Amino acid sequence: HGAVRFENVDFGYDAERQILRGLDLDIPAGTKLAIVGPSGAGKSTIARLLFRFYDVTSGRILIDGQDIAKVKQDSLRAEIGIVPQDTVLFNDTIGYNIAYGRDGASQAEIEAAAKGAAIHDFIMSLEHGYRTRVGERGLKLSGGEKQRVAVARALLKDPPVLILDEATSALDSRTEAEIQATLDQAARNRTTIVIAHRLSTIVDADEIVVLEQGRIAERGSHVALIAKA
Ligand code: ADP
Ligand code: ADP
Repeated sequence: HGAVRFENVDFGYDAERQILRGLDLDIPAGTKLAIVGPSGAGKSTIARLLFRFYDVTSGRILIDGQDIAKVKQDSLRAEIGIVPQDTVLFNDTIGYNIAYGRDGASQAEIEAAAKGAAIHDFIMSLEHGYRTRVGERGLKLSGGEKQRVAVARALLKDPPVLILDEATSALDSRTEAEIQATLDQAARNRTTIVIAHRLSTIVDADEIVVLEQGRIAERGSHVALIAKA
């Protein structure tokens, strides 16, 4: 359920320049993994390859042992949640935006779907905080509120793999902490979480991978990496 493996992955957006070189990365199911490193290192590229916005040049990416290049794109994307840096919401209600893809879902149906899912508390807190605003239109939300909606939307389908591509980079620390707590809960329910992040301040990931020029420079817990520095 959600184990991810990059096997000797090479990738370049064009023939002139390789972005990832022989990347090997094993992510056990239920791990919350942060990929950090300088801008341009290839963090977002890893996220995009996992969602198959692009295909690898050589090597393989496996989810639960299955080569994602051989999975129909629709089935793959049904299995993977992705939260981008700047979420664009529909000019519709918060409820609609969370339930996007669930045709005509009402607030009650969203709550029913959330029961048992990792996002239950998160959606409830959103609903509580926005009790008068559930019917409000998504375009009015602040950046932090939009990202909460995006995380709730991604988690509602209970994906084995969840990708956050700089999804919390622009948020205040309280919103960031709340989203991280929700992710921890999802990880306990065995969702594999891959976070690509510019800052090396992700202290609460199970594991951190430091990427430099498309190669893994370091890997370990936050404590182990600090000890080496
Ligand atoms: P990071 O997320 O670590 O900042 P990226 O994965 O976004 O790095 O980018 C890695 C490298 O790939 C950078 O040099 C960037 O300029 C280049 N790059 C990113 N997206 C594209 C693209 N669509 N076309 C060509 N080059 C790109
Ligand atoms: P569906 O239309 O069934 O939701 P998609 O393959 O279009 O399936 O998208 C799956 C998920 O990925 C959705 O949650 C969608 O918001 C998100 N998504 C699709 N395209 C992008 C994109 N270019 N950038 C970020 N997220 C995307």
